[in-house]
Formats: sequence, C-alpha cells, structure tokens
Amino acid sequence: MSVTGEPSFRQSVDLMFNRAASMMDLPPGLEEKIRVCNATYTVRFGVRLRGEIRTFTGYRSVHSEHFEPAKGGIRYAPNVNQDEVEALAALMTYKCALVEAPFGGSKGGLCIDPRQYEEHELEQITRRFAYELIKRDMINPAQNVPAPDMGTGEKEMAIIADQYARMNTTDINGKACVTGKPPHAGGIRGRVEATGRGVQYALQEFFRHPEDVAAAGLGGSLDGKRIIVQGLGNVGYHAAKFLSEEDGAKIVGIIERDGALLDPEGLDVEAVKNHIARTGGVDMFPGPRYIKDGVKALEEECDILIPAALEGVINLQNAANIKAPLIIEAANGPVTAGADEILRKKGTVIIPDLYANAGGVTVSYFEWVKNLSHIRFGRMQRRQEESRHQLIVNELERLSADTGIGWQLTPNFKEKYLRGADELELVRSGLDDTMRSAYQSMREVWHSRNDVTDLRTAGFMVSIGRVAASYRAKGL
Ligand code: NAD
Repeated sequence: MSVTGEPSFRQSVDLMFNRAASMMDLPPGLEEKIRVCNATYTVRFGVRLRGEIRTFTGYRSVHSEHFEPAKGGIRYAPNVNQDEVEALAALMTYKCALVEAPFGGSKGGLCIDPRQYEEHELEQITRRFAYELIKRDMINPAQNVPAPDMGTGEKEMAIIADQYARMNTTDINGKACVTGKPPHAGGIRGRVEATGRGVQYALQEFFRHPEDVAAAGLGGSLDGKRIIVQGLGNVGYHAAKFLSEEDGAKIVGIIERDGALLDPEGLDVEAVKNHIARTGGVDMFPGPRYIKDGVKALEEECDILIPAALEGVINLQNAANIKAPLIIEAANGPVTAGADEILRKKGTVIIPDLYANAGGVTVSYFEWVKNLSHIRFGRMQRRQEESRHQLIVNELERLSADTGIGWQLTPNFKEKYLRGADELELVRSGLDDTMRSAYQSMREVWHSRNDVTDLRTAGFMVSIGRVAASYRAKGL
C-alpha cells in the first residue's frame, strides 16, 4: 500500500481478480495458480552512446503459460518497474482469454525515455535489449512474442524481428517472433490502428444494447456523444479519430502530458495531433480552452471518458469527481481498484481494459498466424470471390433484360459487391467479430447473475473460467 492509500498496479489487478474469483467455484489452489506471475526476468545491459557506456534496465515477465507462446507488448518509459510489468502481464493473460487468442500472458519494459534519444541510438538500444531476450528464448515465435506498447511502435518491432533473424538464420518461422511489424517487414495491415479500432468496435457493440446504454444513464447512439480522451498516442489518437470521423461523436476534450484542450463544439483530432507532432504538446493550439493541469480535465462533463495514456489516472483522489457516466479503459489499468469501487457505487459504467484494449492483441494474433502460414490473408480467395460475385451480377442483369423488368444495379452497389475482400477488410472483419463476441460473453454474465454488478467482474469471470478450464485440461 502506498502513502496515498492506493495499492500498487499489480495489487490493484489482483484485487480485481480476487473479487471475480470469489464469485466462482474454483478447485482449491487453482485460483492462486492463475493469479500469480510465473516468472520475471530482469536484464541490465550497457550500450556505448555519445562517448560513454550507458546502462539500461529491462524486464520481461511471463504471467501464464497455459497457452504458448506467451504474448504481450514491450513498453519504453522512464518509470517502468517490475510491479508494473507483472500487472500488465497478468492483464494480458485475462485479455487473451477473453478474446480467445490462444496465448499465455506476458509483458516487457525498458526504463528509458525514448524522447531523449536519436533514432539510431534507439535502434542500438533496442537491438541490444532484443539480443538479451532472444538468447534466453524470451523472444521466440513458439514461446514468447512481444508487440508494441507505450513508447514503442512498428520501428522497434521491425528491429526486434531483424535481430531475431540475425541470431536464428534457419528459423523459417522467425518473423512470428514479434507482432506489430510494419507490413513491408512481415506485418499485417490494420495492426497500427488495431487497438484504437478495437475501442471503437467495443463502443459500437455497447451501443447496440439499449439496456446497457441505459445502465450508464445514456440513450441513443454514438452520434453526438461528447468524448474526452486522455493521451493522443497510438491508441487514443486512433480511437478519437475513428469515433469522430465515422460515428459522429464529438471529441470535446484532449488531455496530454502538458495540459488539456477543451471545446464543447468538438476538437479537430487531426489538427491537434499535427500540433503535438510539431511542438511536442497541446499548449498554444489555437482556439479551444487550454488548462495546464490536464488531469483536472478528467473531471469535466462528458458522456464518455477514454483514458488512453497510462495507469492509475483515476484514483482515490479524483474518482468521486468523475462526471462521465461511461468510461472505456483504452489504457491498461487507468482506474485503480479503490476508484473502481467508488465509481461502481456511483453507477458509472466501466468498459474494462481487459476487453476494451484487446483489439491490439487480436490483430497481433492474426499477424502471428499470417507469419506462420507464410501467406497474406485473402490471397487465395480474393479473385475467386470476385468471379463468383460477377456470375450473380451477370445473371441478375440477364434476368432483368430477358424479362423486360428493366432493373438496374446501382454502380456503387456493383463496385462494392464485386470487390473481393483484401487483407485489411478481413482484419477489420475478424476484429469486429472478436470485439462483438467478447462483449456478449461478458454481458451474459453481467445480466444473468445478481451478484455481478459490473462488466469488469463479468470479464474477469469469463477469462478466469477459460484459463481454469485450460489448466484443468492439462491435469492441474
Ligand atoms: P503511446 O506511447 O503511443 O501514447 C501514449 C500517449 O499518452 C502519448 O501521446 C503521451 O504523450 C501521452 N501521455 C503520456 N503521459 C501522459 C500523461 N501523464 N497525461 C496525459 N497524456 C500522457 O502509447 P499507446 O501505445 O497509445 O498506449 C497507451 C495505453 O494503451 C497504455 O496503457 C498501453 O499499455 C495501452 N495499450 C496499448 C496497445 C497498443 O497496441 N499500442 C494495446 C493495448 C493497450
């Protein structure tokens, strides 16, 4: 317990786990087996930079191996520590189980502020970190497969894949050692935006259930809903972009490291993103109200709050002041266990992290399968699908002409119908399907049991049940 009376991130995840497990009928001892983290490896290594040797500390934690490989991102941030990496690895276990991605849970981190280094320096550091993990099989297509997280992206993943290839020259499945690679380096289309896209699909699915929307005291659709998003990085940017451009939602607040922008008329997400890229922050963005104490903006009026930056931002200090009736946890662990209790009592509906940000690992799963099958999704079927559709269109047009009915297929319909699905469309379809069915499995528990009053507990129960079944099948 810290001085703020708040448990650590890992303890917070464990408390949420315990709450769900206590409502289940698990065999003695299995609960603990599932909860504990199997192993955490700490590595310290030196890299010669700017004329001196700098020592870095990194972690790779494996929470569960009921399925292998274990899966989970690598984070670059100055305050990465063992507790955080273990909490994130545990969340990966529950996340993968919930979206039925056949992986154990893992996570990695490096204590570094990537903004302090040049691109070529980051490459050197990433290569060395990857080397340390690869030589211990902590990066391996069959055992442990990283992905991007905070502070890392396609570039780092491509370097890791290349480092693995250098060290394992005859491994034909080597590309599957890491996901989130750029498409030209063995990645899959749609992975960069997958987590944000998943947040969008999660909200779309939530709004398909009027009963659930009403539980949050809201009504109608996503159209016109006022959203505040914290963190305009990979996840937050894509979620905000898709929700505003495609679903008619209004981004009325954007919170970044250096403050927050607020505009009841809605912010231009793209323009704010470009401003951050140019200046490093949101300050001086022309137009909307700017407040220096960005965290305060979490307490502003809105319909949906999307914390998409880091953990612990909604805590015992501010939970009671949060006005949003619906929170979707795009980040991992943004709501502490104590805050969760306060919000639950207030009637705030929380779409929990283990579900809300699972879009990333879902598309990572597709990428891993693509790498192992050595073929792009849709490559075999696309033209065959198109020619079968062409047959139907030809037949309809022939019938129309022969019978003199004079039907005309609209050119727009024809174009859309005739086009066979490419990789991106298949990825989106698979992601949408996954987000819908995972939500339905959570809500079934939420609505069918009187003692389950929130989606988080329901989500944990689904996941724990699946992990338990898999351990039992192994004879544990
Ligand atoms: P990112 O590094 O791309 O973006 C993080 C953003 O948050 C940056 O814009 C940064 O400036 C901002 N930020 C940092 N500290 C902040 C603060 N104190 N207040 C406000 N803004 C702050 O990271 P990301 O990949 O978008 O990850 C964000 C969250 O989503 C993390 O919790 C991560 O674990 C989770 N997540 C990411 C993925 C993924 O695929 N990248 C998948 C699942 C979950």
